[in-house]
Amino acid sequence: METKGVTMQHVSRPKVIIGNWKMNKTVAETRSFVSGLGLNSVVRTFQVGLAVPYTMILTAAEAARGTAISIGAQNCSDHDEGAFTGEISCHMLKDAGASFVLVGHSERRQLFHETNALVNRKVKKSIAATLKPVVCIGETEEQHLSGKIENVLHDQILHSLKGLNPSEVEHLILAYEPIWAIGTGKTATPENIQFAHAYCRKVIASEWGKDTAEHTVILYGGSVKPENAAMILEQSDVDGLLVGGASLSLESFNKILNV
Ligand code: PEP
Repeated sequence: METKGVTMQHVSRPKVIIGNWKMNKTVAETRSFVSGLGLNSVVRTFQVGLAVPYTMILTAAEAARGTAISIGAQNCSDHDEGAFTGEISCHMLKDAGASFVLVGHSERRQLFHETNALVNRKVKKSIAATLKPVVCIGETEEQHLSGKIENVLHDQILHSLKGLNPSEVEHLILAYEPIWAIGTGKTATPENIQFAHAYCRKVIASEWGKDTAEHTVILYGGSVKPENAAMILEQSDVDGLLVGGASLSLESFNKILNV
């Protein structure tokens, strides 16, 4: 496999599909969704995760017991414990049954002003708690239109993952989510997605080595639906999907898992 500037040998990376429920679902809805999903045999083909609201982690983890579904959180604190009213630490997430956590989702970056430096602290806390970080990056529409994708991705990767060693980078998940495509119904073209993913891998290779870059799982997110999932997954540097809106209905999420 040839990406601009880095020659990649073919390695088989796991295919991962994660649903991000955002601020949705009650206890009863969580139980019924997770048990319904557990019946889907495709859960054995893809590694499947659900990033659920904090209050649903325990319920979802209990409902997922005995299945291959992983339960994760959508955010975490950059502190371990103490007087941080309203915050939840990585150890607490782990204790409740989470095995991964989204860090730096664009809604956190935009609505809650999370910086790369804060994202970096959260990534380190999650690794320390053996919670797999799913680190989200992506450009705004304005950056997209003005051709700044590479600069933005380069900065976000280097600053969000600053100080990590190659093994830590290899074991986290990177999610490329162009902000203009999240929840808007606009999707990047498969060619644009492949370009961005190959570029992310090139940045990882130049900072942490080719072997690390070849093993890092990179997901695409942004208005993924049953209708476009297959052509996105076909791209050689796309290792899976981060699905928002379409992960709220068992029917559409199951369709995505069956593409
Ligand atoms: C997301 O929340 O990460 C996301 C990609 O949302 P949507 O699929 O709704 O665009």
